[in-house]
Amino acid sequence: MNKPDTSPYDVCIVGSGAGGGMAAYALTQVGAKVVLLEAGGEWYASKDSQMFTPAWASPRRGASKRTRPFGEFDACDGGWDIEGEPFTRAPGTQFSWWRGRMLGGRTNHWGMISLRFGPDDFKSKSTDGLGDDWPISYDDVAPYYDRIDDLIGVFGSREGLRNHPDGNFQPAPRPRCYELLVKKTSDKLGITCIPSRLSITTKAIHGREACHYCGQCNRGCKVKANFSSPDVLIGPALKTGKLTLITNAMAREVTVGKDGLATGVSYVDKRTSTEKHVKAKVVVLAASACESARLMMNSKSPKFPQGLGNSSGWVGKGLTDTTGTDVSGFIPALVDHVPHNEDGVGGMHVYMPWWLDNKKLDFPRGYHIEVWGGLGAPGYGFMGGIARYPGGGGYGKSLKDDYRKYYGATIGFSGRGEMIPNADCYCEIDPTMVDQWGIPVLRFHWKWTDHEYNQSKHMQETFRSLIAEMGGQVFNPMPTKEQGYGLSTGGSIIHELGCVQMGANEKTSVLNANCQAHDCKNLFVADGGPFVTQADKNPTWTILALAWRTADYIAQQRKAGAL
Ligand SMILES: Cc1cc2nc3c(=O)[nH]c(=O)nc-3n(C[C@H](O)[C@H](O)[C@H](O)COP(=O)(O)OP(=O)(O)OC[C@H]3O[C@@H](n4cnc5c(N)ncnc54)[C@H](O)[C@@H]3O)c2cc1C
Ligand code: SF4
Repeated sequence: MNKPDTSPYDVCIVGSGAGGGMAAYALTQVGAKVVLLEAGGEWYASKDSQMFTPAWASPRRGASKRTRPFGEFDACDGGWDIEGEPFTRAPGTQFSWWRGRMLGGRTNHWGMISLRFGPDDFKSKSTDGLGDDWPISYDDVAPYYDRIDDLIGVFGSREGLRNHPDGNFQPAPRPRCYELLVKKTSDKLGITCIPSRLSITTKAIHGREACHYCGQCNRGCKVKANFSSPDVLIGPALKTGKLTLITNAMAREVTVGKDGLATGVSYVDKRTSTEKHVKAKVVVLAASACESARLMMNSKSPKFPQGLGNSSGWVGKGLTDTTGTDVSGFIPALVDHVPHNEDGVGGMHVYMPWWLDNKKLDFPRGYHIEVWGGLGAPGYGFMGGIARYPGGGGYGKSLKDDYRKYYGATIGFSGRGEMIPNADCYCEIDPTMVDQWGIPVLRFHWKWTDHEYNQSKHMQETFRSLIAEMGGQVFNPMPTKEQGYGLSTGGSIIHELGCVQMGANEKTSVLNANCQAHDCKNLFVADGGPFVTQADKNPTWTILALAWRTADYIAQQRKAGAL
């Protein structure tokens, strides 16, 4: 092992995604000397994005590949399957794990749906007795939601819905034609349908331009109109002169002194395959929920034989993902439409927040509905399955005519709902397998329960009734009970949370209400690890808010001499 680097950093952050980027931004703004270790290489959408590349410019026409599962021009560097970085699944477990390996992690190609958790989401056990309550409430996080709204920018509309709190919104874009139809139909069926809430600037903000509606958000935005950690957080943090960024640095473990406090982080320099170490007074893990759990479990020492922060044995437990299922259909009312401008952001302009009282339903909690359709730029695989449309298919001119006729005549709905943590869903260190650097890998365990299956059934029935009300035809038959009502594989919605949960009880949680390890006062977690519930919301706005709150707490404690 190399001689340790003795640089006295105030804080070492591991991971530069939503949580790590936010922590780096907030800590450098208050003068802390920060080192950020990132396993991937440098990538800034403003410089590196392929936002303007037309599909025809590539021989692949934009088709996906192993390292770009969501399309050739997607900003992704990482994916479902990263060479040299395996993970395992216990027998009988199906679980997918999407990892980013680039500066900014998954914020470079995320969907930008930016929802606040509501008051009930922090205290759901008190309502239905399931899972656990957070040791904090909406009021503790609300000021940080306000701050990130103002710093990063999010559009939406003020609706006054109790458990779907409004933010400091920029104006929302107008619904497109198919979205107006969805809104009209939802109103008829009594389903709440409102403008979506995405972190895309519809007005210029802090030197970033307003969106010009090219619809290519997943490729990364060259004009910085959508949120990505490198352009919006890490760039400004570097400008303070307080941030040292080390890319291609794969953290192996948090090192610990005789007093049981963290002394820094050892990492593999991927360029040279050498082992290095940074010293810091405080360590913040933000490598994504499961990766942070892995780091803690791999940080074994005589004082912490089960891994750092794991005296409760709770690291790895409480793993959840969002539930998901989709239905799409052909809508005759949209066939042969009059050509018109359907430009918009690279995401939906309307969505449906949870609207029912589930006391009357056979599953707890709820889900929201994401909407898709419209006239996106054609690429490889465009309108695949044309034979599913009435009279569609064939050859030559008639085939081309069918594409023109049915282009834009499909609407789809995706349910995204809350799962209840259960004892069968967790990750642990695989006893035998290591990655290419010899670091022990994770093994996943996963089982959905009837709560989630019943919720998926309800989603399927709701989406089918929406399409029927529009006069449309659903493409696929209703999945059966044996098919799990179409419920997604665990992890596949890419909202894995928990594993390093906060809690009031030190025996059943890893962190306190400030995301500080119960066992080690200078170790913090600033990603999705601390989450106690999934909620029926996408998690990133809450990861950002909690990371800023954690950074503020670290700054206060350092000022008070406690860290
Ligand atoms: C296609 C897609 C669409 C999504 N859409 C949405 C959405 O609309 N709304 C929403 O709320 N969420 C969405 N998400 C999820 C969202 O991206 C994540 O919630 C968010 O990025 C998590 O932030 P994070 O900081 O925890 O982790 P990440 O963003 O994953 O960042 C973790 C970083 O840590 C680095 N790292 C990992 N291990 C190590 C190590 N050992 N050493 C050093 N560095 C390490 C990684 O390389 C990575 O850069 C989406 C995700 C994807 C992939
Ligand atoms: S739609 Fe807007 S935010 Fe998305 S890539 Fe285009 S300009 Fe950027």
